[in-house]
Amino acid sequence: MYYTIIFFILGLILGSFYTVIGLRLPNKESIIKPRSHCPNCKRKLKWYELIPIFSYIIQRGKCRGCKKHISIKYPLYELLTGICFALSYIVFGLSLKIIMPLTLISLLIIVIISDIEYMIIPDEIIIFGSILLIVETLFINGMNGFLASVVNSILFFITMYLIKKVGDFIFKKESLGGGDIKLMAMIGICFHIKTIVVIIFIASFIALPYAIIVMLKKKEAMVPYGPFLSLTSIALILLKQNFMSLIDLINYIV
Ligand SMILES: [Zn+2]
Repeated sequence: MYYTIIFFILGLILGSFYTVIGLRLPNKESIIKPRSHCPNCKRKLKWYELIPIFSYIIQRGKCRGCKKHISIKYPLYELLTGICFALSYIVFGLSLKIIMPLTLISLLIIVIISDIEYMIIPDEIIIFGSILLIVETLFINGMNGFLASVVNSILFFITMYLIKKVGDFIFKKESLGGGDIKLMAMIGICFHIKTIVVIIFIASFIALPYAIIVMLKKKEAMVPYGPFLSLTSIALILLKQNFMSLIDLINYIV
């Protein structure tokens, strides 16, 4: 119980940091400078205004300076990260096995934030994240795990690319963003090939009705697919679906 709370708090704090990254990276802003400020009145935030969730509740969702409403999404991103971290501890315990799940969850949360806020999945996150995950798998799973990860990742990049081409042809417009394809390649580093098919299937199954409802309300509306892929992946990580059983893939291919 003690560690579950520690992981929850750690998740809240990191979630706050991931929100800053997710909001700033697509704008090519620095992540470290300047300090967090109100986007409306540019007033720099004091330390007690930066406490995840609590600051939002105490300030009743408004900036202390200009009284402008702060999006409820920000504390929700923090809460999501906190919950995911606590659940990761419950599922994987305090061992080496928790490193890759926490890394991937962190990357996916930044992707979710950027994609919801700007419909952008930053290349920096995909490139940095992929390198990090591949290095981790090399250390944790050895050479076979490393090879499996790379093969898996390339296979999924190609599969998603082909799905996109078919989708573009059928719908006569861009069906999948380039970001979604790169995102799947990154997710492909961590999952068994069968699991990734499941991820694409479940994410589409949830995203499609949602997209139809949104587009019926507003014709020109666009629905980002990244958050669906990311949330489905996070759910499967926490359900321990074949996560890190990549060595199977080598046996599967050879
Ligand atoms: Zn303000």
